[in-house]
Amino acid sequence: MRAFAYERPARLDDAVALLVRYGADARLLAGGTDLIIRLRDGTFRPRLVVDLKGIAELDGEVRVLDGGGLRIGALATMTTIADHPWIQSAHQALAEAAAVVGSVQIRNRATLAGNVCNASPAADTMPSLLVDEAVVEVVGPSGRRRIAINDWVVRSGVTTLAPGELLIAVELPPPPGPRGTVHLRRTRRRGHDLASVTLACSVAADGVTRLAYGSMGPRPLLVIDETGVLADPAASDQSRMERLQALFAGAAPSPRSMRASPDYRLAMLHLLGLRAVRIAAERLRQGAPVR
Ligand SMILES: Cc1cc2nc3c(=O)[nH]c(=O)nc-3n(C[C@H](O)[C@H](O)[C@H](O)COP(=O)(O)OP(=O)(O)OC[C@H]3O[C@@H](n4cnc5c(N)ncnc54)[C@H](O)[C@@H]3O)c2cc1C
Repeated sequence: MRAFAYERPARLDDAVALLVRYGADARLLAGGTDLIIRLRDGTFRPRLVVDLKGIAELDGEVRVLDGGGLRIGALATMTTIADHPWIQSAHQALAEAAAVVGSVQIRNRATLAGNVCNASPAADTMPSLLVDEAVVEVVGPSGRRRIAINDWVVRSGVTTLAPGELLIAVELPPPPGPRGTVHLRRTRRRGHDLASVTLACSVAADGVTRLAYGSMGPRPLLVIDETGVLADPAASDQSRMERLQALFAGAAPSPRSMRASPDYRLAMLHLLGLRAVRIAAERLRQGAPVR
């Protein structure tokens, strides 16, 4: 590992000033579960690592906003999210996604913000954040701005975060009405490997089904079925599968991946899609709690 300087600023302004001064030579550290690996293998060779954990304005809290939305602090860990009662009931897919990230040890350190900023196409929380229309709040030299999660990831490792900016919170709007949600994934080895397919689904009472999936191309994708076919309890599996085939037309898994072949990933995407629609619809029918 190449030597680097380490700073642990106490204020957001100081962190932003360091990012401005060092530019691409600075890297932010939250839980470190992605960053340390990149530092060790030499993918990242920063001159400065800025530890976010000493910043007074950042925290790991999940706050309920007026109207029922949630604000998740930049230092909130996967364990906090998976165990949070409000997230478990109003954003079940996100709680389920956080609960399968890595191992217990990883989840105790890994942050939601780090998962989102790392911008891996296989990031497990991204599909549920897309389905839930999350918004990312960032701060930088020009102040604060908010970015819809669908406009966040450009491609693997690249986000729309501008130079000098850092993420301070992820917000979830209140669900618009009754719905069932679920996260499913396929992985070779739980706790030690990223997903070959990761997928979230929500089925709403008005028949609109939202599906988002990752590990199937350079960035996670959101698709929406407004025809009602997927949510229709009377629809056959064949008609649902035909609808999924149309919706998943943008899936383009890499043939160079060591994890799984494109054919396998595509087959699993459709299978998980079908399964997810069934589970989400069943949760809706059973009256999944709405906050
Ligand atoms: C053994 C193992 C298993 C794993 N399994 C999974 C898995 O199943 N699913 C999955 O999705 N991921 C998995 N991961 C990846 C990793 O744990 C997650 O991506 C984690 O959420 C990253 O969070 P972190 O706090 O550790 O981020 P860090 O490693 O601290 O940071 C990750 C990246 O985000 C940047 N960053 C962090 N916080 C901010 C911020 N506030 N603003 C701007 N940039 C920021 C950092 O500079 C860095 O580039 C695994 C990792 C390991 C080592």
